Amino acid sequence: MNVDYIIVGLGLAGLAFAEELERNHKSFVVFEDNSQNSSLVAGGVYNPVILKRFTPVWDALDQLKIAIPFYKSLEEKLSTQFNFPIDIYRIFTSVEEQNNWFNACDKPFFEDYMIAEVIKNTNQYINAPFDFGQITNTGKIDTKVLLESYRNYLNNKSQLINESFDYTTLQLQNESITYKKINAKQLVFCEGYGVVKNPYFKDIPLKEAKGELLTIYAPELKLDVIIKSSIFIMPLGDDHYKIGATFNWTDKTLIPTEEAKEELLSKLNKIMTVPYKVVGQSAGIRPTVKDRRPILGRHAQYKQLSILNGLGTRGVMLAPKLAKQLYGYLENNQALDAIIDLNRFEAKEPL
Ligand SMILES: Cc1cc2nc3c(=O)[nH]c(=O)nc-3n(C[C@H](O)[C@H](O)[C@H](O)COP(=O)(O)OP(=O)(O)OC[C@H]3O[C@@H](n4cnc5c(N)ncnc54)[C@H](O)[C@@H]3O)c2cc1C
Repeated sequence: MNVDYIIVGLGLAGLAFAEELERNHKSFVVFEDNSQNSSLVAGGVYNPVILKRFTPVWDALDQLKIAIPFYKSLEEKLSTQFNFPIDIYRIFTSVEEQNNWFNACDKPFFEDYMIAEVIKNTNQYINAPFDFGQITNTGKIDTKVLLESYRNYLNNKSQLINESFDYTTLQLQNESITYKKINAKQLVFCEGYGVVKNPYFKDIPLKEAKGELLTIYAPELKLDVIIKSSIFIMPLGDDHYKIGATFNWTDKTLIPTEEAKEELLSKLNKIMTVPYKVVGQSAGIRPTVKDRRPILGRHAQYKQLSILNGLGTRGVMLAPKLAKQLYGYLENNQALDAIIDLNRFEAKEPL
C-alpha cells in the first residue's frame, strides 16, 4: 500500500492532523494501540482564561478561532454532537479576588469571555460565600464521543490500524519510509506520553503530569454550569458530574489511585454539601513540556519523520491550530513559530 502519510497515535493530536490531511486530499493510515488515554479521559474544557489569576491563556484567541469551526465541521461530518457550550462559574475566595476580576475584565483580551459582575450564588448546595465570576463563550468537547466516532469513521474506510507501531520495523529510505507493507512519504508521531518509547524522539523534554478524575451521581445538585475552584464540577447530564483534576508529577501509570480519589473528594466536600455517590474514576497522562509549549517539527536527521506533541493541559484548543501549522510546514515550507518548534531544544541539546 502506498500512502502520503502514516500517523502514529489517534488522540486529539493524531485526530487533528488526520483531519488536516483529509481536508487536503492526502492519503494516510493511522496506528492506534490504546496504550495512552489522555485524550479519552480529558475534561475537554476550552476556555481562554487562566482561572487562578485571571490572565490570558497563551495564544488562546487564535487557537479558538480555528478550533471552534474545526469541531463544528467535524460534528457535521460525523453527524454526532460533541461540542457542548457551557459557562464556567469561578468561585471567589475573597473580596480581593472580586476586585482582581473586575481589573481583568477591563482588558480587551477578555471582553468576549469575562462578565464584569459578581454572580450571586443561588445554589444552596454550593459553598461560595464570595459568589462567582462568570466566564462565557466557553464549553467542553466530549472527547470520548469525538474519538470514538472518528475511530469508527476511519475504521470504516480501512484507514485505522488497531495495533502498536513497532519502531524497530520501520525502514527509512532517502525520502520515504516503509513499514511492513506500507510505503509512505512521511510519518508523523502523535503518541502523547507514549513518545518516551519512540527511539527517534524519546528525548524531547516532557514534564508529563498524571491527572485523575471522578464521576459522581448527585441527583439534587442540578447544575447547568461548570463550577471551578481548586477543582471543577462539570455537568455531564442525567445528574452525573465529572470532578477533576489532580496533578501528579511522579506516577507514570494509568491506574486510578485511592490517593487521588481522597484528594478530589476532600476538595469537593469543601465546596459542595449535597449527597452524592462516586460512580467512576479515570486517569491519564498529560503530555506536558518543560517550557509549557507544544512541540512540532521534523527530526534533525530523518526528514521523513515529524512530531506533533506536547499538548499538555489544553489539547482541545491547541490541536486544530497545531495540525494546520505542521501541515503548512511539511507541505508548503511555511516556517513554524520558534516558540513551538522542536528546534528550540535541538539548539541546546541534540535529540
Ligand atoms: C485528567 C485530565 C484532564 C484533562 N482535561 C483537559 C481539558 O479539560 N481540556 C483540554 O483541552 N485538555 C485536557 N487534558 C489534556 C488533554 O487530554 C491532552 O492535551 C491531549 O489529550 C493530548 O493529546 P495527544 O493526542 O497528544 O495524546 P494522547 O491522548 O495520549 O494520544 C496519544 C495516542 O497515541 C497512541 N499511541 C502511543 N504510542 C503508540 C504506538 N507505539 N502505537 C500506536 N499507538 C500509540 C495512544 O494509545 C494514544 O491514543 C486533560 C488531561 C487529563 C489527563
